[in-house]
Amino acid sequence: MPKVLLTGGSGFIAAHVLDILLKRGYEVITTVRSETKATQIRTKYPNAPLSVAIVPDIAAPNAFDDVLAQNGSGLDYVQHTASPFHYKWKDARTEVLDPAINGTNSVFAAIAKHAPAVKRVVVTSSFAAIITEGDLVNPARTFSEADWNPSTYEDGLTGAPATTYRVSKKYAEKAAWDFVKNKPGFDVATICPPMVFGPVAHHLDSLSGINTSNSRFVDLIQGKWKTEIPNSGVFVWVDVRDVAEAHVRAMELPEAGGKRFFTTAGYYDNRSILRVVSAAKVPELVEKDALPTDVDAVKGAPGADFAQEKVHKFDNAFTTKTLGISWTPLEKTAVDTVKSLLQIPA
Ligand code: NDP
Repeated sequence: MPKVLLTGGSGFIAAHVLDILLKRGYEVITTVRSETKATQIRTKYPNAPLSVAIVPDIAAPNAFDDVLAQNGSGLDYVQHTASPFHYKWKDARTEVLDPAINGTNSVFAAIAKHAPAVKRVVVTSSFAAIITEGDLVNPARTFSEADWNPSTYEDGLTGAPATTYRVSKKYAEKAAWDFVKNKPGFDVATICPPMVFGPVAHHLDSLSGINTSNSRFVDLIQGKWKTEIPNSGVFVWVDVRDVAEAHVRAMELPEAGGKRFFTTAGYYDNRSILRVVSAAKVPELVEKDALPTDVDAVKGAPGADFAQEKVHKFDNAFTTKTLGISWTPLEKTAVDTVKSLLQIPA
């Protein structure tokens, strides 16, 4: 049974990666930052070949040394997903850039030191490592796996929160590629998703703890889109189950080594989300009167509606072909997301 280390197992995307790994018969060691989160995962999978280790602070020097020293022998693969994705920090460097970049450096260093059998590390990067905020509305540009966000580390320290996040993803991914230039015994594949939506598989005590990319669905089910549809932000998206599948295929497929994967189902906007959720007539939402009577009549904030002539183009043909994933349509993802969130206490 091949053995996989999955960092950040308590996260939205990681919980789906963990599900797939266990279903496919992998043995998994996952890391979280508290005993409470460890217990939640152990409780979900009482009989699985799974162990959970605590790495309290991924930004700390040598953060992954202990876990790799104890579990590195016999480890075949690593999935590195842990990294901050939120805009609630006070200090960009210590709360966003350091955990993202130092966390990547320390997991790679610990693998090289303690896990000689590792063949591949899959890193959760982001479309944020490919494009700047400015280019989201640049119809003259087409973005693919070949592109890198040109923002600098300094921009990450001084820019808007979205810039800091983008810079954290760019430099974390760069750290991974730089590490393998020295030819350790393993290679790397990176996954670069844009906005990830989908049902929740990780433990959530309440909707207030929702992950950043699904938070718009919480607002929607709470009736906040009845009078105004908010800015969509990024106009490309992907289902979390496809992203998780991409992580596992990028680990398993020999030809995925050394590649970046831009996993996207294509364009969307918030009005389309509202339209498909309204059309599904989910009984709980109808009962709560959470939806507008006419989606097209609802005012859209600037950026709520997708306009092809104002937005960047993209080309992810390489990823679709190499990974062989049929991207889940928005109709399914949006409705599955809403139904999943309705199970969680407000
Ligand atoms: P989550 O917030 O649900 O997951 C983030 C994970 O990283 C959690 O396990 C979290 O632990 C852990 N983490 C964050 N900061 C730290 C820290 N300082 N120390 C230790 N652990 C930390 O978000 P996602 O699942 O969406 O994000 C997972 C990855 O996917 C990230 O790398 C993110 O950048 C990337 N990504 C996400 C996209 C999206 O739209 N969701 C799009 C593109 C990329 P804890 O549970 O304790 O908070």
